Amino acid sequence: MKKHNFNAGPSILPQIAIENTAKAVIDFNGSGLSIMEISHRSKDFEPVINEAVELFKELLDIPAGYSVLFLGGGASLQFCMVPYNFLEKKAAYLNTGTWAGKALKEAKLFGEVVEVASSKAANFNFIPKDYVIPTDADYFHVTTNNTIFGTELHADIDSPVPLIADMSSDIFSRPVDVSKYAMIYGGAQKNLAPAGVTFVIVKDELLGKVSRAIPTMLDYRTHIKDGSMFNTPPVLPIYTALETLRWLKSLGGLKEMQKRNQAKAELLYSEIDRNKMFKGTAAVEDRSLMNICFVMNDEYKELETEFQAFASSKGMVGLKGHRSVGGFRAACYNALPIESVQALVDCMKEFEQKY
Ligand SMILES: *Cc1c(COP(=O)(O)O)cnc(C)c1O
Repeated sequence: MKKHNFNAGPSILPQIAIENTAKAVIDFNGSGLSIMEISHRSKDFEPVINEAVELFKELLDIPAGYSVLFLGGGASLQFCMVPYNFLEKKAAYLNTGTWAGKALKEAKLFGEVVEVASSKAANFNFIPKDYVIPTDADYFHVTTNNTIFGTELHADIDSPVPLIADMSSDIFSRPVDVSKYAMIYGGAQKNLAPAGVTFVIVKDELLGKVSRAIPTMLDYRTHIKDGSMFNTPPVLPIYTALETLRWLKSLGGLKEMQKRNQAKAELLYSEIDRNKMFKGTAAVEDRSLMNICFVMNDEYKELETEFQAFASSKGMVGLKGHRSVGGFRAACYNALPIESVQALVDCMKEFEQKY
């Protein structure tokens, strides 16, 4: 049976990226060697990382003066590298969920942290809008898509201080005005590649302003200088990322991707709103296009496990909601076809008819 992969992360990747990675694992470029067996500095691999950087720049329309890096350690290591490199005295954070909270916690090790607003009291079901960013902060940190709670910032915000964003779960889902950001980062395993590579887009001129000593590996300038080759980069996930980026380009880039993501989200949210058995958990204006969270209405609450089993029997995978929200979460990342969303909607309709 065809599986419909709604996993939140690691998650669905384009089939072509998986197939081409599989080929490269067996025999890379007809070299008779696996991509896992060659030097990251070889003439075969260098074009891979170079093209991946170029496609990042092209697809996101990254202005001059920014570097694109491929690092290890996940988005979680960035929670520490960001303050290490940018926090001199004070930083501002918008607390919109578990990941935002983890980023904020780490920054406190480096200086004063102002939580400009938090939606914690409402179990992060919305994104606060009325807040003041202190103009003396070294930077303002946001999480553009809250993977666990299903809320998303739908526009690039204006910040009076350098803006830094964790875009782990919505990178490449829509066009972004990179010029508004000092830095954008994320783990690749939601929308780009298998786990193991972290992307960083950073404005070069903002680095080198803190007075503390930074360990070599944690200093962005090290990786800029060596083109992400200071140490061995995660070769295989970078290769898959390149294949995903090629796929994105072949489809027409991020405007097209955004259109597709909007259509998928619209399809699922309208069924959630129409179907008497279900309700969405996030504030309507902040609903994520990537992670769609919903629960059973109170009078049907005891049917949750049954719906879960019913959906599984129809080939749905990864629908169980995160424990901090409960219910269901359908991750609708770039690679998820609209047919899978339609299959889930059909499943919800059929379940409704049973009761
Ligand atoms: C998954 C996720 C993370 C954690 O990423 P790791 O690569 O596992 O460290 C951080 N932020 C957001 C928004 C995420 O979705």
